[in-house]
Amino acid sequence: MLRPLIAFAAGLALLVQPALAQTAPDARAQTAAELRDRALKDPLAWEILEDLTTGIGPRPAGSPAMARAKDWAVREFERLGFTNIRVHEFAKPTWTRGEESAAIVAPYSYRLSILGLGGTVPTPKGGIEAEVVVFGSFAELLAAPEGSLKGKIAVVNQPMTKTVDGQGYSAAVRARSAGPIEAGKRGAVAYLVRSISTSDLNAPHTGMTRYSDAAPKIPAAALGVPDADLLQKLSRRGPVKVRINLASTTRTDTVAWNISGDIVGSEKPEEVVVIGGHLDSWDVGTGAHDDGAGIAITTAAAKLIGDLPRHPRRTIRVVMWGSEETGGSGEAFLADNKDNLANLVVASESDLGGDRIYALLLPKGAVDAPQLAALPALFAPLKIIISRDPAPFGGADVAEIRDAGVPVFTLRQDATRYFDLHHSPDDTLDKIDPVQLNQNVAAWAVLIYLIADSDIDFRALREAK
Ligand code: ZN
Ligand code: ZN
Repeated sequence: MLRPLIAFAAGLALLVQPALAQTAPDARAQTAAELRDRALKDPLAWEILEDLTTGIGPRPAGSPAMARAKDWAVREFERLGFTNIRVHEFAKPTWTRGEESAAIVAPYSYRLSILGLGGTVPTPKGGIEAEVVVFGSFAELLAAPEGSLKGKIAVVNQPMTKTVDGQGYSAAVRARSAGPIEAGKRGAVAYLVRSISTSDLNAPHTGMTRYSDAAPKIPAAALGVPDADLLQKLSRRGPVKVRINLASTTRTDTVAWNISGDIVGSEKPEEVVVIGGHLDSWDVGTGAHDDGAGIAITTAAAKLIGDLPRHPRRTIRVVMWGSEETGGSGEAFLADNKDNLANLVVASESDLGGDRIYALLLPKGAVDAPQLAALPALFAPLKIIISRDPAPFGGADVAEIRDAGVPVFTLRQDATRYFDLHHSPDDTLDKIDPVQLNQNVAAWAVLIYLIADSDIDFRALREAK
């Protein structure tokens, strides 16, 4: 009689199982597949992006447009059924561009295509007119002795290499971020950098630059790529004089916001999966790829999961970070979460535009986790591989919480086109491909659902290896 009794007990256990809210692995994979297929057809990400870029436009941190974007974000979260909507305010100085122009004045007159770098100081009234010294790379500028650029305008014409993973950007961006300090140290009165761009068109690309108290703060702008080449070629033939006018203002009494909304977990609501994008953009273009796309992708993916009959076990939090471009939102997010870091399961920011994802990099030790065993089959139709390399980076706005111990993942996107457009007047909605945008939504929905509906402990896996 023992045997039938055990069989009876086992049968009873099977019957009871579905009533416990735990979803069986097969059912979970099935739900994830349905989410994926729904995401590929869902117009929501496009609608969010169209509304943000058209209705709000460019959104520099600290600007009146950013205040409108913050209100837009709250309305979107409410409209889409997110709860625990939170607006976290933090102090944020605001840099604002004014009138800008530059021209070759000798040996002939020619209007240069420029865009002041984010944070640049203005030129004195009447502008700066001086001879240029052109370097073919940032390393050449670094090799110039101190005092050698006295009274000159330093120009760096270093090309950026186009790569699928965007590595060319990390290699080139120092010429923009550290250029004014290094040129200033050597006596230059202004700094021009070839746009950190893979486009060969003349629209310049802006981006943040830095100063230090150890060097004079000199005005700095990006040059259109063909104009940078022209200056280099012309300077080989003899002295070239350029005039630059940059008007900009900085206010220190302004604020920015991180805005978040939750899909609250059904069993462990205190455990939170953090995803999102940054709501701020540069003042040129409408920030469609950078980073309206990241906002649209992550919001649409979470909304699809929120529409399931049963929410996953853990909470999914979509964060719209409010000051990535000029800095501050990652630090503010860490400060806001410092007492809750242990409850942040994993974090990642979508911030490389709207083109397709081709690889997933998980936190260290997680690639063979049984809770994610369904991923390769779920990702195969999306043409996404699962890398065995651990994710080194989860996005600029989660870098601070990563450094404080929160695991991060990367859904690596095709960046081939991204640096033709980003930080330029051409970062606009027409450059977004809705099919690739939805491939992103599908990948985020599948991955986030699997993580949020599991008990996977990325910290334990990281420590175990
Ligand atoms: Zn960005
Ligand atoms: Zn950017």
